[in-house]
Amino acid sequence: MTNIKSSNLGYPRIGEKREWKRALESFWKGDLTEEELLEKTTEIRLDNLQKQKDLGIDLIPVGEFSLYDHILDVSASFGIIPKRYNYDGGEVDINTYYELVRGSDDAIASEMTKWFNTNYHYIVPELNEQKPALKINRALKYYNEAKEKLGINGKPVIVGPVTYVSLAKGYEETEFEKIVDEFTPLYVQILKELAEAGATWVQIDEPIFSSDVSEEVVAVAEKVYETIAREVPEIKVIFQTYFEKLFHYERLSQLPVAALGIDFVHGESLEVLQEHGFPEDKYLAAGVVDGRNVWRADLQEKSSLIATLRKFVKDDKLIIQPSSSLLHVPVTKKHETKIDPVILGGLSFADEKLAEINILTNKAKATDEKTNEAITNSTEALESLKKKYRSNESVAVEISKLTAEDAERDVHFKERLKLQKKSLDLPVLPTTTIGSLPQTKEVRQTRSKWRRNEITDREYETFVNNQISKWIKIQEDLDIDVLVHGEFERNDMVEYFGEKFNGFLVTEFGWVQSYGSRCVKPPLIFGDVDWTEPITVKESVYAQSLTDRHVKGMLTGPVTILNWSFVHDATPRTEIMKQIALALRKEIEALEEAGIQIIQVDEPALREGLPLDKAKWDAYLDAAAYAFRLATASVQAKTQIHTHMCYSNFEDIFPCIDALDADVISIETSRSHGELVSTFEENTYEKEIGLGVYDIHSPRVPAIEEIKENIDRALQTITPENFWVNPDCGLKTRNEQQTIDALKVMVEAAKSAREKITIKQ
Ligand code: GLN
Ligand code: ZN
Repeated sequence: MTNIKSSNLGYPRIGEKREWKRALESFWKGDLTEEELLEKTTEIRLDNLQKQKDLGIDLIPVGEFSLYDHILDVSASFGIIPKRYNYDGGEVDINTYYELVRGSDDAIASEMTKWFNTNYHYIVPELNEQKPALKINRALKYYNEAKEKLGINGKPVIVGPVTYVSLAKGYEETEFEKIVDEFTPLYVQILKELAEAGATWVQIDEPIFSSDVSEEVVAVAEKVYETIAREVPEIKVIFQTYFEKLFHYERLSQLPVAALGIDFVHGESLEVLQEHGFPEDKYLAAGVVDGRNVWRADLQEKSSLIATLRKFVKDDKLIIQPSSSLLHVPVTKKHETKIDPVILGGLSFADEKLAEINILTNKAKATDEKTNEAITNSTEALESLKKKYRSNESVAVEISKLTAEDAERDVHFKERLKLQKKSLDLPVLPTTTIGSLPQTKEVRQTRSKWRRNEITDREYETFVNNQISKWIKIQEDLDIDVLVHGEFERNDMVEYFGEKFNGFLVTEFGWVQSYGSRCVKPPLIFGDVDWTEPITVKESVYAQSLTDRHVKGMLTGPVTILNWSFVHDATPRTEIMKQIALALRKEIEALEEAGIQIIQVDEPALREGLPLDKAKWDAYLDAAAYAFRLATASVQAKTQIHTHMCYSNFEDIFPCIDALDADVISIETSRSHGELVSTFEENTYEKEIGLGVYDIHSPRVPAIEEIKENIDRALQTITPENFWVNPDCGLKTRNEQQTIDALKVMVEAAKSAREKITIKQ
């Protein structure tokens, strides 16, 4: 008997057709009772487990399912609930749970932020108000459920204490160890109860060690896992990392745990193993199938990787699994009806990936006919995909000819800004918005009707134009200086371009969770990207024709399009980024040609794509800045290029922001105002900038004093000549009245700030 096992790290919670999302939203609307919500989500959860069982997975994850977010679940189970939600200290009820993320009349919602280098957002724990205590043993609850209902002896999944505390806020760095110490006994208790209930394997997620944390943090982990090993020796702990190699390998590979979970798809884990070997007493839980991408794995290649790994582990102590939780890929490709069969044959979503894991495990255990056939099939499917992969010679030629100068504007920004001031003729502290205006129910419904062919292209176009003209008028009445057309024609800022560029493909059900009930459907890039005809010109030109004020052209940048797509690895990512940049460059030239003088190229995903391994930062940031400039550099000096970013910790990427050479940048700041302004104190930034002066994520209309204060604070570090006044992100999630009311206050605040300023000419 071999020890080799198959495993999964986590399964998507949203359901095959987003049933989960609909259940949550119906509950929030009051259309489902709490009981009905729990019934519906239990059904989804049990289905997910049954599927994994049927797919032959040995170690099935339990407890990673969530009613919103898995970090919020940890907070709730330890009672880490800020007092503003009137939390009484007991088990957290569902209403409190959702108030925390959606806000209530008297309490603002908790901050959310990106989960490592993904587009998933978790709720940031606030540790300053509560002492942790075990309110509910979630892992136990779901372990028991799987056992009782389905006869599955599951593998509970828990986010580990070191990662949890690292991701939280509300404490000083010096208190880190002390705080983790408060959690350790609670983890011990959870594990003891699991052991009593019969659990053997427990996956403790510690992805923080896929980044280069300090030696002190490593020491804290040593202490935690020594305590756990001493107190609960009967549990086999899998110390699970993902998204990069395991840093501090020499020390962490000696932790007293049963297994080390390591990603062999991202980062140089194999090299690490080759250099340092693998401890004889441990299992290696090897992530061999990409948990972050949608393409079929080359099973031949994966089999030889597994054969190599077997040389490092003793007695075949090997667990074969995806590189990370499958939370980051869609559920199944089986409902896709519109994709070319050859491309479909090359795809693999969560369920298909688990089937791959099963084949690989069987192959490693014993070679039988059926398994070999499955492996051959995978190779053949990938060969056909490769042939199909639309290879566009002319794009390759264009890319090969690119030089550094192609990505430089002809005129230095100091000169450009002078020319632009003259030709644009804007007041000091010009006001603008970030691009999208309310996507009302009517807008979304009309788009769906058009997609279902229930209305003609003509009717849809007229509808969009009416929205544009209504909002041009509103913006003029509000006296905003630089107007937007409102992005009414767009479903999503990346999918929209994915539908228009060559080389992209859009799925029907390829949804992944972004935050809470919000899911996104990343387009797939499966061939050379290029531009065939104008995409955004029609709407921008129409909007511009209605007003004497400037209307901004609005595009999504190359880095964001790349980061928010599923990219095939037949071409290096940096090359695809250049292809997208060239396609955008043509679009930008078309906008300029059509008379648009201000063009915004959004890059909200630039920061999130930053590699976890700092050694890779420079290469990424250089490529990102090059691609952005490649897209934007060919315009005339007097054409003003804007960019926009949000949800970011900008300190890390400040030099890159400067290297984008955009004339104006708008940044989301209302949630971290002080921090961002201090970034500008410490760094010189000489181009124009708009720090978001109010938070668009909340339905609340800001008070004028608040906005004035934000402007004043920013003007202490940024000269008024360079400052723009704008909300901190697009307005598509707000309703029309909230938007108008808030913008009114914003314009008023800008005007009053202008009065105080005398500009040196
Ligand atoms: N222009 C986009 C909008 O306003 C930007 C969105 C974003 O930053 N995520 O919606
Ligand atoms: Zn934004």
